[in-house]
Amino acid sequence: MKVIVAENSGFCGGVRRSVELANNESNKENKSYTLGPLVHNPTQVKMLEDKGVEVIDENKVREISNANIIIRSHGISQKLKDELKKNSNNVVDATCPVLINIYKKIKRKEDDGYQIVIVGDKEHPEIKAMASYVNNGIIVKDETEAKNITNISKLYVVSQTTNRIDFFENIAHELEKTNDDVVIENTICNATRLRQEACLSLSKKVDCMIVIGGFNSSNTNKLYQIAQKYCKNVLRIETVKDLPLQKLSKFNIIGVIAGASTPDSVIEEVVNRMDDLTNEELMNSIDDSMKKIYPRDVVTGTIIDVKDDEVFVDIQYRADGIVKLDEMTEEERENPKNHFEVGQEVEVYVIKLDDGEGNVALSTRRVEGMKNWKALRDAYENKETVKGDVVGSNKGGLTVKVMGINGFVPASQIAPYFVKNFKKFVGEHWDLKIISIDERKNRLVLSRKDIVEEKLDEQWDELEEGQVITGKVARLTDFGAFIEIGSLDGLLHVSDIAWTRVEYPRDVLNIGDDIEVKILKLNKEKNRISLGRKQLLEKPFTEFVNTHEVGDVITGKVVNLLDFGAFVEVQDGVEGLIHVSEISWDHVEKPSDELNVGDEVEVKILSIDPEEEKIGLSIKALKEAPERSERKPRRRDNNDNKNRFNAKAKRKSAQKESSDDFGDNDLNNNIGFAIEEMLSGIEIDEESSDE
Ligand code: SF4
Repeated sequence: MKVIVAENSGFCGGVRRSVELANNESNKENKSYTLGPLVHNPTQVKMLEDKGVEVIDENKVREISNANIIIRSHGISQKLKDELKKNSNNVVDATCPVLINIYKKIKRKEDDGYQIVIVGDKEHPEIKAMASYVNNGIIVKDETEAKNITNISKLYVVSQTTNRIDFFENIAHELEKTNDDVVIENTICNATRLRQEACLSLSKKVDCMIVIGGFNSSNTNKLYQIAQKYCKNVLRIETVKDLPLQKLSKFNIIGVIAGASTPDSVIEEVVNRMDDLTNEELMNSIDDSMKKIYPRDVVTGTIIDVKDDEVFVDIQYRADGIVKLDEMTEEERENPKNHFEVGQEVEVYVIKLDDGEGNVALSTRRVEGMKNWKALRDAYENKETVKGDVVGSNKGGLTVKVMGINGFVPASQIAPYFVKNFKKFVGEHWDLKIISIDERKNRLVLSRKDIVEEKLDEQWDELEEGQVITGKVARLTDFGAFIEIGSLDGLLHVSDIAWTRVEYPRDVLNIGDDIEVKILKLNKEKNRISLGRKQLLEKPFTEFVNTHEVGDVITGKVVNLLDFGAFVEVQDGVEGLIHVSEISWDHVEKPSDELNVGDEVEVKILSIDPEEEKIGLSIKALKEAPERSERKPRRRDNNDNKNRFNAKAKRKSAQKESSDDFGDNDLNNNIGFAIEEMLSGIEIDEESSDE
């Protein structure tokens, strides 16, 4: 192996001078700082730091006084320089003389009436400083920007000192086309130009070029670009540690070039490291340093080149890795150059060790999938819950997407109970447990059953009889409404919907309504929840009692006629009784002789019994009593005897009816009251007969 170091490699005059000045300021009594890293080279910066020369940024430096402040070779604005001096600092100006010369030139030309155009990167410190020495300089980054500068008479064009000559010339030419009196001053530094020429010439002769310099060094970047243009294999490193020994085994002649900020010591180390190695040692070091990698591995590599349709990655293996466009993520594929840059570390998935052209086929797209499979495997082993979206259904169950991976939930695993129509779950977001996982077969089977069961158990535990909860009307039938309470369903029977009579639940409720209900009964074993709604509403009788009193005259409707009296609805769900004796001052044999069902009648409230929920009414009380003489004397005759016999029979029958047909809880019904009234009426008859 032959190693050739390009001429003009390493420190240029300007950088060398700044490093010497910084070294002079090290270990002084007053603290020494460099305003920004002295050079774009971490090794050199570290060397100075070890000697007590710290890096300080532009904001903090304004707060410093009585210190040695070294201005790096890029230069700074005159204004800042003056400010630092004002703060009693010792300003050591290491601005490169090449730049000081440019400052003078552009100032002079501006005074002569020229518009100054600087071709360079406006974020680069050199350009920021340069632009500060004129009043109205225009900074042009590329040819597109140059095309916007037109019709200016007297243009003075200078360049960033590290630009490629062809790049600067193209832009200058563009400016010449559309402006008058254009003076082009090639201010590319001689050291830069010579180094670039040496790079170009050496790149043509060698099998591999090694470009040494800080990854953020502008002039090193340009050397790398030139080398790539003329040499097939170009490696970019910062220090000897980055030297990929295993790659070098296949090259016979290796060229080395270093950027302007690379210390000689770093170049020497790199060259010596390669010189020290005989081929055998080289092979050993390759074996030692080479990673063992296998297809399906996910490894970390360093990007060594980015093209429009592929990215080359150093994975510390015998061969470089390559990520083709179709193995990038969607975002990366749009513009690889926006996503990757040389020197960047990336995680890559190894597809195969040889893609047929000697490279390792890699994928960035599959890395995410691998990570997700791993996360799923961990979740499976730790019995953890994962989240998934139900994306489709088929005869056997549901397809789900979990962490971007397709999975399947068999029908039997959807819930602890039979689910007939599981298509309705598509679009839902579920918690799931993994039942089986086989990454190689791309198979992931999940279950929701246990999770639903756990949730149902939790819900059952939270419920208790008498509790008032809010549920959603899920289904309506003729006998009641099914109310959804979380994952459970309860039945609201039609008779428990309201105190008034409800013919059909749909007359009162709508599917989707949120309603408040009371839990009447729970039966976890049979999975039954009985709910009541009317139990939360005020009883019509209570409302009646609160708004009426004995003596009130009200209107009602006759709803039922029995021998002992007439039932009158005085309010929705509230009935009172007009005893037969309260219908008229005249003797009434049967209520139906005087009244019909449906008649509207005016009645007086005779009594209200809140406990028994009975209301006594009278029509007679609203009419004036006839004179005593007008009342027909009652004679006991054969008919009276017959009546007495009938009355006794009625009493027996009524008692039987009372015990057979009406329970204690039938509060809404005045039958009990009626029976008592009837019996009392019969007693009156008996008493009067004894008179
Ligand atoms: S590259 Fe040229 S301009 Fe820049 S510091 Fe070195 S000598 Fe000066």
